[in-house]
Amino acid sequence: MAYAEDDYLMLSGIQHFQFCKRQWALIHIYQEWAENEATTHGQFLHQKADNPYIKEKRKDFLISRAMQVSSKELGLYGILDVVEFHKDEAGISLSGKRGKWIPTIVEYKRGKPKKDERDIVQLVAQTMCLEEALGCKIDKGYLYYHSVNKKVEISISAELRHMVVELARQMHELYQKRDLPKAEYFKNCQLCSLVDICMPRLSKKTCSVAHYIQQSMASEEGL
Ligand code: SF4
Repeated sequence: MAYAEDDYLMLSGIQHFQFCKRQWALIHIYQEWAENEATTHGQFLHQKADNPYIKEKRKDFLISRAMQVSSKELGLYGILDVVEFHKDEAGISLSGKRGKWIPTIVEYKRGKPKKDERDIVQLVAQTMCLEEALGCKIDKGYLYYHSVNKKVEISISAELRHMVVELARQMHELYQKRDLPKAEYFKNCQLCSLVDICMPRLSKKTCSVAHYIQQSMASEEGL
């Protein structure tokens, strides 16, 4: 399936969707966002990585920062922190560059590697977008964790690609329906920047956007 550009969703949202569908809906459908220490630090890291004016070149090695990408297959668009290009005869041609180059994404994260797959699905979605942009197949990518100074290699497997296609399909379905998934309180809720807006212990029912806005306005007006 190919999505129309007007229907594209933010690529970075796939990590929220994998973590908690309600969190994704609150951010990407209801436009709710709350800062906590984790999100502020994460933004600082991305500001450093997403500097479009930095271009680095070393022998047999190029770095491109803040590259914009999108995917018709996934219906997603976003910006890549860092794409490394290593000179290799098995790679692809790049405009204005001699030789062949193998592209690899490095996605910067605060904290340390997580037990769930939210960072991994984001990296795989980014890689699939980059593949569409460059017309090539990419076998691996890296997640760099700032607080433990660790670079983790991720194999872009067929299984992970299927998972990302399915997550993107579900994101578009939920976006079209404008439904807010019910809250399911779990231990990570304590770390969620939207916990005060979500109220996961109280809001266990699914509701529509219109109903949510009505409720929010009523609570703001003290009704
Ligand atoms: S508080 Fe919990 S249920 Fe609510 S959005 Fe955050 S992670 Fe999801």
